[in-house]
Amino acid sequence: MIDFPSALLWFLILAAFGVAGIASALVLRFRARCYVALIGYDPRQDLVPDCLADRVEVIAVRCTSEFVRIPPMAHSASAAYIELDFRSTMLGQHLDPCLALAAGDGSLRMPIERGTRGRRLIPLTALLPQLLSSDGRIALHGRHLAWSSGWVRLHLVREAIAREDAILVVAPHPDDAEIAAYGLYEAFADQAHVLTITTGDATTKPYSTNLGREPLPRADVAQVRVADSLAAPLIAGIPSSRIGNLCYPDGELAALRRAGEQGRPEDRAPERLPGRLRALNPDWIPRQAVKSWTSLVDDLVLVIERLKPDVIVAPCPWIETHPDHVATAQAVCEALLRAKRRDGQLLFYIVHPYFSEAHPLGPAGGPAPVPNMAGRTLPMPDAVFCQSLTPAQMARKYCALEGMRDLRAIAGEARPLAKAWLDLLRRTIRQLILGRSHPDTDLLRRSIRSEEFFLVYSCTRAVALVLGDRVAGESGSRNGIPLDPETSKAAVAA
Ligand SMILES: [Zn+2]
Repeated sequence: MIDFPSALLWFLILAAFGVAGIASALVLRFRARCYVALIGYDPRQDLVPDCLADRVEVIAVRCTSEFVRIPPMAHSASAAYIELDFRSTMLGQHLDPCLALAAGDGSLRMPIERGTRGRRLIPLTALLPQLLSSDGRIALHGRHLAWSSGWVRLHLVREAIAREDAILVVAPHPDDAEIAAYGLYEAFADQAHVLTITTGDATTKPYSTNLGREPLPRADVAQVRVADSLAAPLIAGIPSSRIGNLCYPDGELAALRRAGEQGRPEDRAPERLPGRLRALNPDWIPRQAVKSWTSLVDDLVLVIERLKPDVIVAPCPWIETHPDHVATAQAVCEALLRAKRRDGQLLFYIVHPYFSEAHPLGPAGGPAPVPNMAGRTLPMPDAVFCQSLTPAQMARKYCALEGMRDLRAIAGEARPLAKAWLDLLRRTIRQLILGRSHPDTDLLRRSIRSEEFFLVYSCTRAVALVLGDRVAGESGSRNGIPLDPETSKAAVAA
């Protein structure tokens, strides 16, 4: 028989367990919600974009819970993705799931979202050279993860850049060309030009907090970052005669475009761009220009007419969120229209995707999954292009990016003691809640990957999609530049 004190003790113990259980469930639920907010989408959905499925070669291959066998015809592809239907285990709801792949003496680890449920494209490009020695067999091992066995789809990207094609890489800011396309411009260093649009002078924090003093004047930041943008492509073997910076003000391109559309009153003549910095450029960039949208498009027209690029690499206007990035794509398309370029291709890249700045997951040096394009109406590209990077190329890309002073974390940063403790507290809470002590938006982590991914559009089609009814003889009553593909259908058909 249980006496009253024992019963009370048991009641208290059970109540404590109950409270602890409810508290744990609430913490786990909160942690899962924070994680979804971090990645920017519900992981319980398919992430295989239609645009890829329709624009690449797709074949069926056999997959088990232990391996997938890739046929020899895949070896000649520029990139390959295996489509697997994943389901995370119970632990994988709260701990980071991962798929490990190994072929020959090569291996890679692909992080998958916590709580994942749906189809994903797993990049195999880094393992393609290993397939000859492994008889096409890629071993699979999942952590907190399972997938459907049987016949699965292998996506092979065959799009290539010809050796005689002239390439122009356009970057809104110093660092964007390297983040998005270092591997591409190094692979085609003999035929590539790199052009940055702005001075990058809006980023003053790294130049002031490290000294604990007043912020560096924007003019000084501009000088430093323009120098960075002109130096980084040298690491890839591009001569200084093919590297330029138009020196427009950082963070103001969208405002310049709006002012340009409204028409510029004569008494609001824009100031000259810093001629001292423009003078650092090679001959294909005019020395003098003013701070206006018209001047920017004029500059780009001149560059396009002089270089006659077959391939222009620029930010994707439909997936990028940074106003300067969207405005850069618009300026390039306006210049193509003015220059009457009907041939050639635009390769659109993505640095700041609309869904999250945490993409892609996992540490630097890993593979890069296809960006999540679910939930966004995207004009169907003509093709996709992947530039693969070897470990040596990734190391040089790291050097080029780390040389950008805005991305570099300098040790010994002078901070008040209170701020240091606050940072420590913030990191500890992040570690407890998310399992991560640092923000996942670090571009050195996100951008150094074994693939660089591009959406390919013909110049004519891209201009029609981005500029809409302005293409049809400049006679439309609307001055806006539609970025909704639905509103641009008529222009595309025309
Ligand atoms: Zn940028």
